[in-house]
Parts: sequence; structure tokens; C-alpha cells
Amino acid sequence: MNYQGELLYTGKTKQVFTTENPEQVIIHYKDDALAYNGIKRAQITNKGVINNKISANIYQRLEKLGFNTHFIERINDREQLCKRKEHFIQLEFIVRNIAAGSMAKRLGLKVGTSLPTPVYELCYKNDELHDPLINEHHAVALGLSSYEELAEIQAIVVHLNAELQKIFNSIGVTLVDAKFEFGRTAADGSLVLADEISPDTTRLWDTATLESLDKDRFRRDLGKISEAYMEILKRLEENF
Ligand code: 5GP
Repeated sequence: MNYQGELLYTGKTKQVFTTENPEQVIIHYKDDALAYNGIKRAQITNKGVINNKISANIYQRLEKLGFNTHFIERINDREQLCKRKEHFIQLEFIVRNIAAGSMAKRLGLKVGTSLPTPVYELCYKNDELHDPLINEHHAVALGLSSYEELAEIQAIVVHLNAELQKIFNSIGVTLVDAKFEFGRTAADGSLVLADEISPDTTRLWDTATLESLDKDRFRRDLGKISEAYMEILKRLEENF
């Protein structure tokens, strides 16, 4: 492990450390897997290494496409250097292209139903409340964001979904849905895409076989979890 400063934060799957530069942090990816609000827990060998590499690969592509992100560089197998956030927006921005997960359950839709237009959802990031689905008015009333900021993020999410769909289509993978998080940097308060983008935060189906290559393998006890994550990494690296 590299020199790590003070532990700033321990999350469910990652730890964040200070660096000598007050505007940067090191994010360390652990092997922990959690689902159903922490009721289901396990260690998945090498998941942290694989997700660190997947997320870094995707963020490098997004940076090249002009997205403002927190990512600076991957520094080793489990760690990446990122811009420090002075403010995390306590919201999850979800986009769905195909009905699955909580949307399929809530609306009685058959898993796999193609959505004629992407569906955008907001969730209040709050473990005690189980990240409830809210709308933009709730977000503003709760002081989590402003209408202007939400509109700015919405435009970014539309663009992100389009570009990520292209990236995954090019490796024979369908982006079913994804969750994004945003923050403002300590350096200048600019809005950046934050958190990982990996099989933990997206649903990814093999386009040919419709096999899940994501965290649903853990949620639904489908087995071969790290193999599926590794398959995503392999295809991303082969097509970089
Ligand atoms: P759903 O609402 O169907 O459970 O999730 C929709 C998408 O957002 C899935 O790709 C899921 O992995 C992601 N997602 C939603 N909430 C969370 C969360 O709290 N943590 C993580 N890692 N992903 C989430």
C-alpha cells in the first residue's frame, strides 16, 4: 500500500484518505460486498482490485469525452487519486434503459422490458431511510440541491447515459441501469461526477446471452461474481 494520510472516511466498499495535497484524496477499494441495505454481506476476492480498474478505465474514457469528474489517476491495484470534494450532494441519480430491480418490482414490469425513453430517478442518499425515491421538489425542500443544480446534473446524466451506452455496446454489453453521484471540489467548488462506475453501481447484461455481469449475481446468489466482473474488465481493457 502506498503512503496514506489520515483516514477521512470509511464507506461500505471504499475508504478515503488525505494526501499531502489538501485538494486531493486517495480512494481505496475494498473487497466488501453489501446488498439489501447491508443485510447481505460478503467478501468477494479481488472485487476491490477489479472495480478500481473498471472504474478508472471508464473515468479515463469519460474525461477524454470532456466530462468533469473527480478522477485523477489510478495509482495501484486498489487505489486511485481523486479530487477532494468539499461537498457531496446527498442524492443518487439513477438512469434506466431497461426495467429491472426496484423499478420492475415497484411498477409490476417484467424484468427486461425495454423502456421507450430513459427513465431518470432521484434517491435521497440516506442509509437509515434506505435511500428513498424522491422527486426534485423533495430534493430542493430538503435542502439537498437547487432547481438550477438539478437541471445541470440532469443534462450531464442524459449525456453520460448516451456515452456509457456506446462504451458498453462496443464490448457487447447492455447498460440496463446505472447510479451516479456528484459533488463539488474543494479546489474551486466545481461540479464533478464522483463515486465509482462499476458492476456494483450499474446493471450490465451480456448483449448476446442476457447474462447479468454485475452485482445482481451477488444479490440473487447467481455465483461466479468475480468472474463476471473480470469479464467486464477484460472486455474494457481489450477495447481501450
Ligand atoms: P435499483 O433501484 O433497481 O435497486 O437500482 C438501480 C441501479 O442503481 C442499479 O444499477 C444499482 O446497482 C444502482 N444503485 C441504486 N442504489 C444503489 C446504492 O445504494 N448503491 C449502489 N452501489 N448502487 C446502487
